Amino acid sequence: MKNKKSNFSEWYSEITKEAGLCDLRYRVKGFVVFMPWSVISMKKMYEIYERELERTGHLPAWFPALIPESNFQKESQHVEGFTPQVFWVERAGDNVLEERLAMRPTSETAIYQMYSLWIQGKGDLPLKVYHPSQVWRYETKATRPFIRSREFYWIESHNAFASREEAEAQVREDMQMAQNVIFEQFGVPFIFFERPQWDKFPGALSTFAADTLMPDGRVLQLPSTHLLGQNFAKAFDVAFLNEKGEREYCWQTCYGPCISRIYAAMISVHGDDAGLVLPYSLAPLQVVVVPIPKKGSERAIEKKAKQVEAALISAGIRAKADFSQNTPGFKYNYWEMKGVPFRIEVGEKEAREGDLTVVRRDSKKRHAVKERELLHFIQKEAALMLADMKKKALSEFEGRMAKATSMEALASALEKGCLVAVPLCSIEMEGRNCAEEIKDKTAGDVRGIRFDKKEHAQANCIACGKKANVLVYVARQY
Ligand SMILES: [Zn+2]
Repeated sequence: MKNKKSNFSEWYSEITKEAGLCDLRYRVKGFVVFMPWSVISMKKMYEIYERELERTGHLPAWFPALIPESNFQKESQHVEGFTPQVFWVERAGDNVLEERLAMRPTSETAIYQMYSLWIQGKGDLPLKVYHPSQVWRYETKATRPFIRSREFYWIESHNAFASREEAEAQVREDMQMAQNVIFEQFGVPFIFFERPQWDKFPGALSTFAADTLMPDGRVLQLPSTHLLGQNFAKAFDVAFLNEKGEREYCWQTCYGPCISRIYAAMISVHGDDAGLVLPYSLAPLQVVVVPIPKKGSERAIEKKAKQVEAALISAGIRAKADFSQNTPGFKYNYWEMKGVPFRIEVGEKEAREGDLTVVRRDSKKRHAVKERELLHFIQKEAALMLADMKKKALSEFEGRMAKATSMEALASALEKGCLVAVPLCSIEMEGRNCAEEIKDKTAGDVRGIRFDKKEHAQANCIACGKKANVLVYVARQY
C-alpha cells in the first residue's frame, strides 16, 4: 500500500480497488458499482442510523424517484440552486412526456406536495419522516468513489412543526444524532458549523453542516441539517389550522446523512499503510482464523481451526477460517488489508494446548487467550478497539486545528492541512466578498462558525480589516 499520510490520494484509489470496495469500470461517467465489501458495511451503517432516527420519533416512508418539473420549480431559490445538477427524464417508451420529470437530486419537492395533503390540523404535527434512498446529481466537480459521485446513497429526514422553536430543537437533535452515530459508533470526528448565508441549502433559512478532516487536510462535508423556516411550507401550502381556526404555515427542517460519504470518511480516517481498519460493528468479517500448517499436525490444526470458527459463528460473530492454499503470511496481509478486526492464529501449539493467539488489526498487538475465554475476550476487546480508534482519530483531528490573523499565516496553515480559525467581518451576505478574497488568495473555503461553542473574534477581519464580528473556520474542501 501507498503511504496514507504523504500520499493520501493514491492510497485512497489503491484501497478502494484492492479491498474490493467498488468497480469504476461502469460505462456511465461519474457512476460506480459499489461492491460487497463496502455494501455490507454501508448496510450496517444504514441500520444504525435508521435505528437512531426511529428512536427519536421518525417513521420511514419511500417516496418516488421522479419529481414533476412543476413541483421542482415551486421554491425559487431551490430551483435555482439545484437545476444545473438535475438529470431529466423526457421520454417514456416512444412517447415524449407532457411534463419533464426530474430524477430526485434531493426530495423536498417530492415530499412536501404530500405533506400539504397529510397535514390539516395541529394533531397531524409534528410530522417526522425519513426516507432512505439514492439520489442523482450531475456533479461537474471531479468525482471520487464514495466521496462524490453522480449517484449516491443517503437518508433524508423531513420534519414539519407548528412552531419555530420546535424546528430549532429538531436541528439540534439532528446534530446530536450525528454525534451519537458518526463519532460514537463509527469513530469519525467532526465539527458542526453554521454555514455562511451564501453557502446555505437553497431555500433554507440556515444550514448546519458537519465537516470532518481527511488525511490530506481537506474537509469533507458529512450530514447537514437545515432550518427551512416557512419557505417551502408557503411554496407547497404545508399548513395547519391553529386553535383560533386560522391557517398557519408549518415550520420545517430537513436532514441528510449521506451513507456512502460517511463510509468514505470512515475508511480514510481509520485506515493505515497496511489497508483498511474497520470498526468491529461495521466489518463484513469480524474475525478470521488462520491455520498455520505444520508437518505431521495438519489434521489437528485443521480440526482446531474449524472448531474455533464454528464457536464464533454460533455466537453470532461474522467469522471464517481461511483454508485457501496461500501461505499464512499472505493471508495475514490480505485480511489486514481488508480491515478484519481480529485474526486468530492456530498453529501446532494452539491445537495442542488450547491457547489461541489473537491479533488486533488496529494495534497489531498479539494476545494469548484461553480458548474458553475467547468469546468474552473478543467482545471486551472490540469495545476497547473502538475506544482506541476514536481516541486516535480525535487526537489527529485536534492536532490539525490552527489559528491565523493574516492571509500569509492562513495560507501557510492551509498548506499544512489545517482547519484554521480566522476573524471575519460577517457570515451574512455582506461578508461574501471577504470570503471570496480568502478563496482567491489561499484556495481556502469559509466553512462557517462553530455551533458547539460560542467563540468571539479578537482581531479585525482578515480580508477587509474592519471590525470582525465572527470567528470562522477556513479549510480546503473536497
Ligand atoms: Zn471583511
